[in-house]
Amino acid sequence: MEPIFSAKWITAPAETGECVWEYGKNICISSGVRRAVLYSSAIGVYTAEIGDKKVGVYRLAPGWTQYDRRVQYQKTDVTSLLVRGENELKISVGRGFLCQDVTHESNPRENLCGLAPSSTAAIAALEITYDDGRVDVVTTDGTWTVSETAWRYSDMYNGDVYDATFVPSGSFSARVIDANTDTLIAQEGEPINEHENLPVKEIIHTPKGETVLDFGQNMTGFVRFRVAGRCGDACHLTYGEALDKYGNFYNENYRAARAETEFICDGREHVFEPLYTFYGFRYVRVDKWAGEIKPDDFVAVAVHSEMERTGRFECSDEGINQLYHNIIWGQKGNFLDVPTDCPQRDERMGWTGDAEVFSGCAALNFDVLKFFKKWLGDMRVCQKDDGRIPVVVPSHWARSSAAWSDACVIIPYNLYKYYGDKSIIEENYDMMRRWVEYLENNYEEYTSPERFHYGDWLALEREDSCYGLTPKEFIAAAFAARSTELFIAMSDALGRKSERYREFYSRCKRDISERFSQNKVTETQTYFVLRLAFGLYDGDVERKELAQKLCDLITSLGTRLSTGFVGTPYLLYALSENGYADVAYSLLLRKEYPSWLYPISRGATTMWEHWDGIKENGDFWGADMNSFNHYAYGAVGEWMYTVMAGISPAAAGFEKTVFRPRVDARIAHVKASVKTGYGTLVSEWETDGKTTEFKFTVPKNITAKAELFGKEYSLSAGENVIVI
Ligand code: BGC
Repeated sequence: MEPIFSAKWITAPAETGECVWEYGKNICISSGVRRAVLYSSAIGVYTAEIGDKKVGVYRLAPGWTQYDRRVQYQKTDVTSLLVRGENELKISVGRGFLCQDVTHESNPRENLCGLAPSSTAAIAALEITYDDGRVDVVTTDGTWTVSETAWRYSDMYNGDVYDATFVPSGSFSARVIDANTDTLIAQEGEPINEHENLPVKEIIHTPKGETVLDFGQNMTGFVRFRVAGRCGDACHLTYGEALDKYGNFYNENYRAARAETEFICDGREHVFEPLYTFYGFRYVRVDKWAGEIKPDDFVAVAVHSEMERTGRFECSDEGINQLYHNIIWGQKGNFLDVPTDCPQRDERMGWTGDAEVFSGCAALNFDVLKFFKKWLGDMRVCQKDDGRIPVVVPSHWARSSAAWSDACVIIPYNLYKYYGDKSIIEENYDMMRRWVEYLENNYEEYTSPERFHYGDWLALEREDSCYGLTPKEFIAAAFAARSTELFIAMSDALGRKSERYREFYSRCKRDISERFSQNKVTETQTYFVLRLAFGLYDGDVERKELAQKLCDLITSLGTRLSTGFVGTPYLLYALSENGYADVAYSLLLRKEYPSWLYPISRGATTMWEHWDGIKENGDFWGADMNSFNHYAYGAVGEWMYTVMAGISPAAAGFEKTVFRPRVDARIAHVKASVKTGYGTLVSEWETDGKTTEFKFTVPKNITAKAELFGKEYSLSAGENVIVI
């Protein structure tokens, strides 16, 4: 058992309130140290230091989990930070998502340590192994000191306030909390780290007279700055994602999240960065500053969970390349221990539906296996006794919904499909089984018009509503079938029995064809898309009929999509896999609203929540729910890899691969690569409209073939060139 389990949770003598408190202990080292390891965690969000040196490179530790059940601790080698003599170990704790109000959530604190709702706490063990083999363990207990810090305020939504002039009124003995350490788990996810550093692209002076720094990229992180003001001078920054149509700073779409940084100078030069929060932003308004505003004094720092980049995509169309760029940045900005819907407004939550639709694309862009394994661990403990999966994870919210809760099956399936790692199925098998059994046991109620579901969220059919026109009960039935089908496929992969679920799957399919057959249902794009993409039809004749109707519906609108969160991820597949790849390309290449490229014509650098986050006349969709960094519609990236470039797994993890690129003369060149567990697959094609040259690179451990214009080609290891 790691030594942190024998440490005690400690807090301040009184409520810690909104400021950051520091827990400290002096450790005397009198002989040579072979190895020293710090195990640390907090109720709140923390940083650790030894002397003045930072421990670890992680940020926003201990990460975001279902805190009442699991709190991660970090394990860091600190051998090189210890010196002979006195060493001051300090753990500073801000409120984090655990000790502040989170939208939609009740505070989970009572189950943790019996602390007051906003009080923070720390726990740590420093294990020192000396050269002579002796081992010493220093753990948090009543001998630690605690004091207030210059971080006068910290809040994930509102930001950090630091007063360099602050002198603590004294230090107190830490109060030991009588609580067990049952909730502690070793860090499961990837650590959140600092990544890209972006300089100021431009200093804008707006018509309203504001000074705004433009970093040129919508991102998630913070601004690090250098300042040397007089004692008491204040610096105040406010973060935003957009300028309004007049060119003024705008962040009403952050709703209640104030997203500010305040720094009070003490007369000396400081390089400062917020440590206990993060911001989603491209622009920063400088409300107050000490001295002249010089661009070189500011840098925007991107933070996200560690993820190895595994996918690349480029083509001859600059708009599509920008779209791909926006997808990548959307992923970076929303993978912070939890896959969040957005990183800026008073939400930033693990919305399951968003993560589900984006998970396939995410898995091709980066290695996200460890990231999702950790989050699925939170999902497992969130599952309700009857099998329901909440729409947000971590969460105390019981609400479940079709296409959101199905994330518990669809995400493991996508990870298995692209990584071939069966442990993802094994670990989540029970959760998936219980969800499918919930669907089976409650099918009638679940697919009744009265049951709550988000439907085809943000579909464009209704001006007055976010829910779209596709009947929610149809979506519920279609996703029940889909989850069951994928669960059966994963059961088969483990060699487990699935008869019972096959029967349920047939029941769903029968019900769909009886209850929702054409003419008995409002026929929307998403209706046809789901029937096609999920194989909910009887035979080829019906499949072709559905595809024709989908195509007619799209062309009758002037080749426009009208799908929302549920239909969009499958829309291009439903077309390209059923004979209408040209229509799929037309939708992808469309530049006018609504389309993937419309936001790019408005300067987007990440994915938008709405097809018209900024309308053609420059007005915003609204202030209430209008994020400019929402990855859901970025799901289209999966189609770009698997259909445009045609890199598609024929067996889990790409052990067998089929290259099936769909060529379209409107694009002259496409190149994509995917790094798999067996090596890197590359697909490239170039066309002049008459002749196409394909190049496929196959690693030696992969069996691959190509399917081109209806003909099959076997491929060998190395580069294969085919000209047609
Ligand atoms: C979130 C979404 C989410 C939705 C549920 C929103 O507030 O930002 O992306 O899926 O609620 O419909």
